[in-house]
Amino acid sequence: MSRVYNFSAGPAVLPEEVLKEAADEMLDYQGTGMSVMEMSHRSKAYDKIIKDAESDLRDLMNIPDNYKVLFLQGGASQQFAMIPMNLMKNKKAAYIVTGQWAKKAYQEAQKYGEAVKVASSEDKTFSYIPDCSDLDIPEDADYVYICENNTIYGTKFKELPNTKGKTLVADVSSCFLSEPVDVSKYGIIYGGVQKNIGPAGVVIVIIREDLITEDVLPGTPTMLQYKIHADAQSLYNTPPAYGIYICGKVFKWLKKQGGLAAMKEYNEKKAKILYDFLDQSKLFKGTVVEKDRSLMNVPFVTGNEELDAKFVAEAKEAGFENLKGHRTVGGMRASIYNAMPIEGVEKLVEFMKKFEAENQ
Ligand SMILES: *Cc1c(COP(=O)(O)O)cnc(C)c1O
Repeated sequence: MSRVYNFSAGPAVLPEEVLKEAADEMLDYQGTGMSVMEMSHRSKAYDKIIKDAESDLRDLMNIPDNYKVLFLQGGASQQFAMIPMNLMKNKKAAYIVTGQWAKKAYQEAQKYGEAVKVASSEDKTFSYIPDCSDLDIPEDADYVYICENNTIYGTKFKELPNTKGKTLVADVSSCFLSEPVDVSKYGIIYGGVQKNIGPAGVVIVIIREDLITEDVLPGTPTMLQYKIHADAQSLYNTPPAYGIYICGKVFKWLKKQGGLAAMKEYNEKKAKILYDFLDQSKLFKGTVVEKDRSLMNVPFVTGNEELDAKFVAEAKEAGFENLKGHRTVGGMRASIYNAMPIEGVEKLVEFMKKFEAENQ
């Protein structure tokens, strides 16, 4: 067996320890004589799996009691509709458009009400986070929406926008559990888990209780109502049971690493190695304004498309996978999520130095 260094933006690298544990339990989960995949979601064994996952996540993020944790399906993209359907009481919401995912959410919301674009960084290919300290937020906006870490462009909100008292809704798919957060500043925090937590198929929604109501837009499907899932503790129908089990293992792994403060320190250390190299390189350069750089997704270019392609191909040969940038931006992107070991980043930088020397 040989494992590569996987820099994929998602689905992405998972802790090896977690994968091994899951492999050990594949045929017989803790004496039940069956795999978690074969288990009723209403069984005692599964009830413990999902309850432990929730309580470990609550510990990790220090989630206040007046927030519900929901394990849902449909990916982060389903939330683009679910959020306006459940929250747009005044049929108006403010969107900050800092990348493709935020733009998709903004476009989807237009189906359900008036989505007002209050800020954007599209003028410079989403390479920065706009100043959000004094935005023109409509009086009757039901919420302010952000994508906190922009997976494709490699930018991150280092400071939350001033929402002028409105509810903040954040897509944190690609920075989930990468550092501590103050949950009480948000109405909803949500993310697909396949970037930084687990296998594709699970989306986690952390939602303040007062936002969970029966008063949703007419025609909202049962499955798209937060209240239905909250009342049933994520077991209204069959949940993505195996995915939640793996997420639970990752939560335990994170606790063992020292929790989110320790993860932040580790992630900063990893990202610094790569950014420091990019800042002095004569061949490679980062594409993001320094103050807005993401700790998770690091896009870079050589300035020459052929050389970019050569780099990606040679890197793959050397065991560094999925370094090609998103199809809409080109160049390269290294996603260095929680589970990417520091050696992976060190070795990548060594490889980049060698490539630079050979391609002067
Ligand atoms: C990947 C991603 C999405 C889309 O996730 P799906 O689960 O494929 O719907 C949305 N937002 C962000 C920030 C992402 O990185």
